Amino acid sequence: MEHQVKHAPPFWINPNFRLNTPNFRFSWYMADINTLRQEATVFLEERKVYQASSQCVVCMLSPNHDTLYIVYAENTNFGNLRLQKWLRETIRDEITARAKLVLPPRLRELEKKHNLYGNRVFVKKLRGNTMGCCSVYNDITLMPGLIIMPQPLIDSVILHEMAHYKHKHHRKSFWKFLSQLLGEDAKMQKGAMDIALSKYWLQIKYLMK
Ligand SMILES: [Zn+2]
Repeated sequence: MEHQVKHAPPFWINPNFRLNTPNFRFSWYMADINTLRQEATVFLEERKVYQASSQCVVCMLSPNHDTLYIVYAENTNFGNLRLQKWLRETIRDEITARAKLVLPPRLRELEKKHNLYGNRVFVKKLRGNTMGCCSVYNDITLMPGLIIMPQPLIDSVILHEMAHYKHKHHRKSFWKFLSQLLGEDAKMQKGAMDIALSKYWLQIKYLMK
């Protein structure tokens, strides 16, 4: 019993779990097990299949990675930890693919808008609670999990990193410059964003680990 509790995820990925964000969402569909098995034998690149004894779950991947369709049989045991891991990793990979499509163009858009240009942009996992970083060469790295946050949060993280093009620190001049980019007091805005972010953080940390 203790063993189970210790390894239980912070939340379960099952048909009650929804993710509807402007950039990424997923939908659940129940289907007959025989139909699912048939679907599973069809080889398609944009399809991922989980099969174990009586269980069968098929994930359909949309070409631009903005929607993940999860089709499952009625008797699916979502309490199975192996299935949970598979679902989490499938969702994580789709979120990452979507982030790589969406985040760099959004950064370029904001650069154009503010006439403030850096160097390269990368989308990859960052250590600890870091959402983005800017190198001495003005390369920006953004974490893929950003993509499942509301657009204002995504933009504020990107603008924060862009402000580092000019100021490589967090001193007064940095916050003043960022306030100009945001059109509001950057420190106040950061406080509000941190509160908003805390709502998503557990979800992001678990899904993207
Ligand atoms: Zn910073």
